[in-house]
Amino acid sequence: MIKKIKGIVVKEIAYRDTSKIIEVLTAGGMYSIVARGAKKVNSSLFLGTSFLSYSEFCIYEKKEISTLKSVSIINSFKNTLKDVVKLGASSYLVNLCTQVYKQNNNSDIYNILLTGITKIDSGINTLGIVNIIEIQLLKYLGLKLNLDECVACGSKEIVTLSLDYSGYLCKNCSKISTDKKILKLIKIYDKVDISKLDSFNVSNEYLNYLDRFIDEYYSKYTGLYLDSKKFFESLLG
Ligand SMILES: [Zn+2]
Repeated sequence: MIKKIKGIVVKEIAYRDTSKIIEVLTAGGMYSIVARGAKKVNSSLFLGTSFLSYSEFCIYEKKEISTLKSVSIINSFKNTLKDVVKLGASSYLVNLCTQVYKQNNNSDIYNILLTGITKIDSGINTLGIVNIIEIQLLKYLGLKLNLDECVACGSKEIVTLSLDYSGYLCKNCSKISTDKKILKLIKIYDKVDISKLDSFNVSNEYLNYLDRFIDEYYSKYTGLYLDSKKFFESLLG
């Protein structure tokens, strides 16, 4: 059956001399597609089947591996391909969202990824977008932070953000106090609609604090360890 699908190329695997197998994440699921001759630079399939491309694919659909008939690019993320930090960030988000999608086949994950890499390409604070997506993906892993009240007693007099309790703690339950701006910022990360975000002005001090918190949270609870995050962070200097 011939079918048209829109999606993001999340993996390319070399196949025979000139072909490749691509994995495409779409709103309707993950597709494996053979793209014959697509490794040749002059092939009409070359660009649209490259890693990170957001394209419309016309395929002969089969159960295991479909075959690509034609492809047209919707967005090749030109700014990202020219900028090593943006490319590092988007590559990491592709890896992260693919891992989360394997644990929870929710089509929201595809939308989050597409919106995130589109915003990064448009030039909004790269680390900010990465961190927002990391926080918003937690609910699909069953690890959402509690940012409505003190996790231990339900009080609203919040003084800190706790790794061990996965959320806010109040002054009766914790002796530590965290900068109020950080406590507000993590809540914004959790709630903001990325598609409506046009600018993101936060000091590096707060950004880096939350980035470290998120890294520690992921390493403590998710079981996901992604070299691509370390690589992206190394690019930030
Ligand atoms: Zn409390």
